[in-house]
Amino acid sequence: MAATGRPGAGRPPLPDAVDVAIVGGGIVGVSAAYALAKAGIRVAVFEKATLACEQSSRNWGWVRTLTRDLPEVPLAIRANRLWGEIQAMTDVGFRRTGMLYLQENDADAASHQAWIDAARDHGLDARLIDRRAALQYLPESRRSWRGALFSASDGVAEPHLATQGIAALARAHGAIIVEHCAVRGVERAAGKVAAVLTEHGRVGAQAVLVAAGAWSRLFCGNLGADFPQLKVRGSVLRTQPFEAGLAATINGKDFTCRKRADGGYTVSQFGASMADLVPDSFRLMHHFLRPWLANNTLVRLRLGKRFLQEMAIPRRFAPDRVSPFERHRVLDPRPSRGGVTQAWRRLVDAFPVFESARVAQAWAGYIDVTPDALPVLSAVPGLPGLYLASGFSGHGFGIGPAAGEAMADLIQGHAPATDLRPFRFERYTE
Ligand SMILES: Cc1cc2nc3c(=O)[nH]c(=O)nc-3n(C[C@H](O)[C@H](O)[C@H](O)COP(=O)(O)OP(=O)(O)OC[C@H]3O[C@@H](n4cnc5c(N)ncnc54)[C@H](O)[C@@H]3O)c2cc1C
Repeated sequence: MAATGRPGAGRPPLPDAVDVAIVGGGIVGVSAAYALAKAGIRVAVFEKATLACEQSSRNWGWVRTLTRDLPEVPLAIRANRLWGEIQAMTDVGFRRTGMLYLQENDADAASHQAWIDAARDHGLDARLIDRRAALQYLPESRRSWRGALFSASDGVAEPHLATQGIAALARAHGAIIVEHCAVRGVERAAGKVAAVLTEHGRVGAQAVLVAAGAWSRLFCGNLGADFPQLKVRGSVLRTQPFEAGLAATINGKDFTCRKRADGGYTVSQFGASMADLVPDSFRLMHHFLRPWLANNTLVRLRLGKRFLQEMAIPRRFAPDRVSPFERHRVLDPRPSRGGVTQAWRRLVDAFPVFESARVAQAWAGYIDVTPDALPVLSAVPGLPGLYLASGFSGHGFGIGPAAGEAMADLIQGHAPATDLRPFRFERYTE
């Protein structure tokens, strides 16, 4: 996990104008900057704290095609290739470790087979493997696995290296990256985007890409665009360096585990997510009620002090005043001990070798979620020159490089390599 933000010295002077201004220095904003800079576009990224201070440094590091929603599969395939190319240029910790979704019973195997059948046209390497083949990747186990859904090409990258590494590539192509610089708003001229208004001054821009993660709803809302997005708190732990003899990244249903480049393991579970009830939960109830009910085993709802904290954040703010993005520089929620402890116990129960491992750290991050768990990768209707890449719903690290590249194509008026129609903003307004 990366550093939290600090008001910084050493900030480069702001340019007067660029072609494209990007709000947010997570993996998506920085990947878009890299693709734009490579194409010779003048681009600047503005990050309110430090690069990857929120989701992009706090995630599990999975780069997967397995069980993706089908519209995301082409992006996942493209991203896997891009990760390989990036790793060849700079160390972002990308390894094709192989990935197993372990099965306990025939029902698990049937649901994995159904996903393979649905994704068949994409030419993925995903396949079912039997118990004997699965055991070859695992340390001695107390649980009796039926088999696994397996991909040899899925893997991991290191969140604490990835965004910084891609940012260095972007800078080498001329991108300007400004940390400790919140964007408060957007100036328009003749109805079109004309500039970003930052806490340190105005920068002219013909296009603005909002890649602000969990802040995108607030940012867009201040401009009059109602982006239905909530936050879910995901919790994670890592161990001290230790050798467990685990030869792939695994999802054991009630735990997940992957080897880290530092020799430890990152452990969590899909069910370690908690949605704090906040005023937006009620405003957006008509969008989210059905997905909440369908996923109530994955995300638990909680009413706590976050409700009052978010109620105190203004939804409209003027660009000449300190904005909520400065007042809340970094979202750094406390990990849900229950969620990660449970995942850890289940991992240890399944694989006794972990009994001798020591937990080094637990942390959490706010995940930006949309009602259909798909991102928006799109122009924002009614606001010419404004683009949005957000709402990755817990899957944006792995596809980040491809999502950034696709946004760079869209902004330049090129046809993106992958079909972005499922990710249009308008799907929430039509
Ligand atoms: C616990 C956890 C586990 C996860 N595991 C995985 C995984 O294994 N694989 C996977 O693919 N995905 C995973 N994800 C999701 C993944 O981390 C995100 O989808 C991805 O990092 C989103 O990247 P982003 O650039 O859109 O947003 P972020 O990384 O959140 O970046 C947005 C940035 O915008 C900045 N910002 C916001 N507003 C402003 C403003 N007004 N001005 C300037 N800067 C601003 C923020 O400070 C932030 O740095 C996980 C997430 C969490 C929290």
